[in-house]
Amino acid sequence: MSNFYKDNEDLRFYVEKYIDWKAIVEVLERNAEDPAAWQQTVETYKEVLSTAGEVAATEIAPRARQIDAEGMHLQNGVVVAPKVHTELFDTLRDMGMYGLCAPQELGGMNCPGVLYFLMGEVFGRADVSVLVHYGFHVASAYWLLHFSIHEGSTEFDADGRIVKTRFQKPIEDILAGKTWGSMDLTEPNAGSDLAALRTRAIKQEDGTWRLTGNKIFITSGHGNYHFVLAKTEDKNSLTALSLFLVPLKIERNGETVTNAYVDRIEEKCGHHGSATCSVQFDNSEAELIGKEGEGFKLMLKLMNHARLGVGFESIGLAQAAYCLARDYAKERRSMGKPIDQHPMVADYLDEMDVTIRAIRAIAVEAAVAEELATGLELEESRRKQRGAVMDADTHRRIKRLRRRARFITPLLKYAASEQAVYMARMSMQLHGGNGYMKDCDAERLLRDSLVLPVYEGTSQIQALMALKDNISWITKKPLLFLRKMALAKLNAARAEDEIERAVYRMQYMACSAQRAIVQRVAKDKWSEATNGPLAQVFDRFFKDWDPKRDFAHGQLHAERLTRILVDVAAAEALLDQAKSFPERRELAARWVEKAEPRVRYNLDLIENTGNALLNRLEIAADDELTAKSA
Ligand SMILES: Cc1cc2nc3c(=O)[nH]c(=O)nc-3n(C[C@H](O)[C@H](O)[C@H](O)COP(=O)(O)OP(=O)(O)OC[C@H]3O[C@@H](n4cnc5c(N)ncnc54)[C@H](O)[C@@H]3O)c2cc1C
Repeated sequence: MSNFYKDNEDLRFYVEKYIDWKAIVEVLERNAEDPAAWQQTVETYKEVLSTAGEVAATEIAPRARQIDAEGMHLQNGVVVAPKVHTELFDTLRDMGMYGLCAPQELGGMNCPGVLYFLMGEVFGRADVSVLVHYGFHVASAYWLLHFSIHEGSTEFDADGRIVKTRFQKPIEDILAGKTWGSMDLTEPNAGSDLAALRTRAIKQEDGTWRLTGNKIFITSGHGNYHFVLAKTEDKNSLTALSLFLVPLKIERNGETVTNAYVDRIEEKCGHHGSATCSVQFDNSEAELIGKEGEGFKLMLKLMNHARLGVGFESIGLAQAAYCLARDYAKERRSMGKPIDQHPMVADYLDEMDVTIRAIRAIAVEAAVAEELATGLELEESRRKQRGAVMDADTHRRIKRLRRRARFITPLLKYAASEQAVYMARMSMQLHGGNGYMKDCDAERLLRDSLVLPVYEGTSQIQALMALKDNISWITKKPLLFLRKMALAKLNAARAEDEIERAVYRMQYMACSAQRAIVQRVAKDKWSEATNGPLAQVFDRFFKDWDPKRDFAHGQLHAERLTRILVDVAAAEALLDQAKSFPERRELAARWVEKAEPRVRYNLDLIENTGNALLNRLEIAADDELTAKSA
């Protein structure tokens, strides 16, 4: 029987050989001391993945074309899904799939988030829009519990089992398949710029909250439970934002009444199995989650998780595009041979295969780091409630894991989503004219892929995040940075292994790119600081930093730097694997061969281009200022 997990050797490598499941079980379960028990737990994870692979190949994929053709519609205020879509979700509910990551005490399977992400790839290969709607079940239940533990509103017994939790009813509703959740950030005038949100929540005299505003493009926004980001202070700042849980329907005086509603769903280019809703809140009852002003911080936790999810979703779509193209190219003949025997086509297919596997390497690394960091943070919150503290070593481990997850997440979201679009296009290209026709899956994959670099933070926003984290690390620890750079250069000259030498060369080029950006930013700032009274030069240089004005050079090259960091992170991950698993060496060599020239090219662009463009932007900004003051 067809199975999207079992037929994927590279994915199985991680599950069967690479992932340190024991470390994950230790954080998640209470049976890790007993080898037979934790090994049994891991066997269960593998069975779940294998079942997911079968469901993806035999239930989701065969329905994808019909779901795409019929789409979701709003009829008399109700979102109506195609019959095949409803059947599919009934199957997932009956299999208990909505409780994948919920604890057993709440009726869930208590599986790790890593398993959910890996399933994301497998489901995404079948249909990304189905995966996304499924994700808003599992992830919403997970985050309701997570936020409750974070704010201290979940009670545990002495064995660490949940006795009760603040969001018990919503979680139970989701697990029972009655409804699901959504995350509501975007508004007509604010997407990337969250500080500009207008939805407003007002505290009532009795301490309850009411919320008013319009959220747009809300995926699965026809579910009952909405995580809504709203202003609780009238200022244009991320610290003015708070997070609320707002149900569409509430119970009032024994009756179910409308609290908020979907007034439109979008007609989209793809992603037809996922409803994209406009939601109206009008003096709606809202429950504050966490503290006032903490909304952006909490939403960012959820979004970082969701960005990892989009990473795996994108890998799934890229894998689908690659398999489709590979199988077609084997059969289709031109000029006397199958097209996969023509060097150019063989090169495209090789690039697709290697790139998917390289991105999967950083995806798994990020997912494991996120899993362990989140699990240990939750344990820390539980201990705090009991008045206990985490030991210093574990605390340091959490920080290390969190840093790693934070470093890779934007790289993964950026690279996986951009590559999914590229590969969907190449898949269509390799199908020739047939690829452009509606009865070929290549055109659906291309339409479905286009949103991946847009939602959960666009590629440009991911690049800015990567830039910010890297540059602020260098400015905080300049000596450590210079040491890292010197070591990379030294190792590139003295390492005996050819692949290792190439990875060090790439690391050195990555450091050179970062140094070029920092030097240029500092130079511009210095020349501006010296352009005024001499006595205040140092004050102007060190104190008066404006990210929009002073980091233009960094912003200009943020995507190029991100591409370099992706190439290097994947090379490091594959080299690391090759050291313990010699059968992975060939993959590492193939990746390095492709990635190193790209790194060199992007470094060249960072070091040598952009001055004229930045000058033009500066002149335009000055002109605008002059026009305003005239
Ligand atoms: C199918 C779909 C589903 C979605 N689901 C959800 C959901 O569930 N919940 C939700 O809240 N939102 C959702 N969104 C909205 C999505 O997150 C936003 O569209 C996205 O964040 C971009 O915001 P925007 O559309 O306002 O574009 P803008 O922010 O206006 O950006 C326009 C362009 O400018 C670029 N840009 C903006 N600022 C900068 C900058 N400082 N530097 C460089 N470039 C910049 C962007 O990268 C983009 O290319 C969804 C969108 C779609 C299409």
